[in-house]
Amino acid sequence: MAGRCPMGLGEFTSLALMHPEYGYYTNRDPFGVDGDFITAPEISQIFGEVIGAWVIDIWMQMGSPSSFNLIEAGAGRGTLMADIMRISNIAGGFESAAQICLIEASDLLKGKQRAALNNHKVTWYDAISDIDVDKPCIILGNEFLDALPIEQLRRSSDGWQKRVIIAVDDNEFKFDWVRAEKELVTLLPSKTVSNEIYEVAPIRLEFVNECEALIKAHGGAALFIDYGYTKSHHGDTLQAIKNHKFVNVLEDIGSCDITSHVDFEALSAHVGLNVTPVVTQAHFLKSLGIEQRAKAICANEMDLNRLVGEDQMGELFKVICFYHGNNLTPAGF
Ligand code: SAH
Repeated sequence: MAGRCPMGLGEFTSLALMHPEYGYYTNRDPFGVDGDFITAPEISQIFGEVIGAWVIDIWMQMGSPSSFNLIEAGAGRGTLMADIMRISNIAGGFESAAQICLIEASDLLKGKQRAALNNHKVTWYDAISDIDVDKPCIILGNEFLDALPIEQLRRSSDGWQKRVIIAVDDNEFKFDWVRAEKELVTLLPSKTVSNEIYEVAPIRLEFVNECEALIKAHGGAALFIDYGYTKSHHGDTLQAIKNHKFVNVLEDIGSCDITSHVDFEALSAHVGLNVTPVVTQAHFLKSLGIEQRAKAICANEMDLNRLVGEDQMGELFKVICFYHGNNLTPAGF
């Protein structure tokens, strides 16, 4: 990597996470107690069941189409989709209508997804733009957007600069600043404070545009759940996690997860679809009845608390839905 420095944060993160040989996701299954972090579907099946009820509801609002693409971006171990499909028989015709499409960059995780969904027909895609625009789509992404790289910018007395990584030697890297490209500067809010760090995410915006193209063609909805903020603001949210602990982004490259918080306001402003308000994960899951579901199946109370507790995932995680089609009212907002 040293030979390719200075390198923008976006390119650095893509390589650290997805390098075909040394990338973090290419090399491991990062989830669970023994892994580096735990995601909502891995905490309890009630998460996927509630999301499943949401998917079935929006499918019915769409007029129960006899064939639609059920797309999940960054499906991890395939647990969320497996939980959704396990309850899918509560609505007649849903299971056979759902064409499961998974967008996944890691071959190792594709293997896990294949095992989790072995009784379903699944098609894998490297990119959402590879999916044919021939039917309605319901798109899901849990902790997917945070994994798409960002760039960081700051306004100095010399104009806008972007953060880069430079090599001190073969194994040591540090941050630096260089002049920012105009295309990045156009993504910034209109009012900015000098010397503060602003984050822009061209790859996330491009992904949202690709969802828009799919949904606009035949109707549908996209639901994203992730940690992030409701209103755009400045601040450095780039983080690396290993073994459930925050670590230095520039150390152990390729063996820790690198993410950043999602600016939901920037996504809403960018997408040309109907947009729900941004709500907390606690609000969304509770209004869809997660507490009743937890009671009904005697789920572990600690698991429920991890999903909706204010000091757990409940407040930090946010939910948004983009949609297009007559008379859709996404539930939970
Ligand atoms: N949704 C899962 C996994 C979240 S981790 C869960 O909640 O458990 C992020 C997931 O996105 C992983 O499956 C990772 O391999 C995938 N991913 C990250 N960047 C990607 C990209 N650019 N294209 C496709 N998949 C990506």
